[in-house]
Amino acid sequence: MGLKDFKIKVSKENILHNYHYLKKLRNKEIIAVVKANAYGHGIENIVRFLSENGCKYFAVARECEAEKILKLKIENINIIILETIDEIEILKNNKNIHMVINSFKDLLNLLDKGVSTQQLHLKLDFGFGRNGILEKDFFKLKELIREKNLKFKGLCTHVFAADYDDMILIEKRFSQMLKELGDERFEIIHMQNSAGVISIEGEFCTHIRCGTILFGLQEIGYYDPCIKRAFKLNGRILDVKDIDDLKYIGYEKKENLNIGKYRKVAKIRLGYGDGFSKRSEGIMSIINNKKFKIVHISMDSSFILVDDSVKEGDNIEIFHDLEESINHLKVPHYEFLSCINDRIKRELI
Ligand SMILES: *Cc1c(COP(=O)(O)O)cnc(C)c1O
Repeated sequence: MGLKDFKIKVSKENILHNYHYLKKLRNKEIIAVVKANAYGHGIENIVRFLSENGCKYFAVARECEAEKILKLKIENINIIILETIDEIEILKNNKNIHMVINSFKDLLNLLDKGVSTQQLHLKLDFGFGRNGILEKDFFKLKELIREKNLKFKGLCTHVFAADYDDMILIEKRFSQMLKELGDERFEIIHMQNSAGVISIEGEFCTHIRCGTILFGLQEIGYYDPCIKRAFKLNGRILDVKDIDDLKYIGYEKKENLNIGKYRKVAKIRLGYGDGFSKRSEGIMSIINNKKFKIVHISMDSSFILVDDSVKEGDNIEIFHDLEESINHLKVPHYEFLSCINDRIKRELI
């Protein structure tokens, strides 16, 4: 790997701080949601590190993500697949892989195929409409559970609401349903994602199920000042050229770029082929504690207008100011960060 290649460096200390802080905040165990390459932080590194620090549950969205974790051959961890999967071989072959049941039909289908209920988490939907057993099926669900005396690995729901009162309402209805179904039938109970962890108690739950907040990517409205950001996107300047010597910057004619007073352009080894969207053109980078604008992004490289202080080999940080990047890109940080692909190495430091 080249010295000037970009990396996402993830602070072990800050991840661990968030992990312990959240556990203590709600007095519950954590299901670490590590989908989308652990929100860009590197799924393998994060799972290895958190499991060494006592985390027993990891959640992903896809079967291929569960397979990545299986390859690490870590003992005594459970992997929950949050979305319904079509092929159940992986469940039959690995007893530590669990799946969330996202509809009544799914439940019947999996029971029919002989999947153990000890690998299933029932999910109840209180109006989110994306995933979960619908309220209209709750009566049938109760009958089925009683009739077959079913015991499951888990029971869960999703607190989707942006509104506090609605969150409280979901919490209340979930708790009622838990009583009606019988809490002795479920080994673990979980409800709160990151927003839910900040906003509601979830007293009757055993686990919290969070992603963004664990990595320190907070959302407006659910901000906790004790949570620490963990990632840095860092690289080095490949070279610096005089603009006067150039006709083009990257693929762009230099007249088309707003060069202003700048006379130099620096090149870096990061482009949209790495998942660094062309829409990031215009955001600021940090070189030697000064801000410089990224003016052009191509597939493998990007170009930054710099002054005489910037030299080949200098350190550069991208997405330093998350708020500015979110405003510029008009998507949340967890979206643009999880888009950075595996051409960029992740390193725990
Ligand atoms: C992604 C996801 C989470 C984690 O959400 P955050 O807001 O990142 O904490 C929790 N539960 C389910 C079902 C999810 O799909």
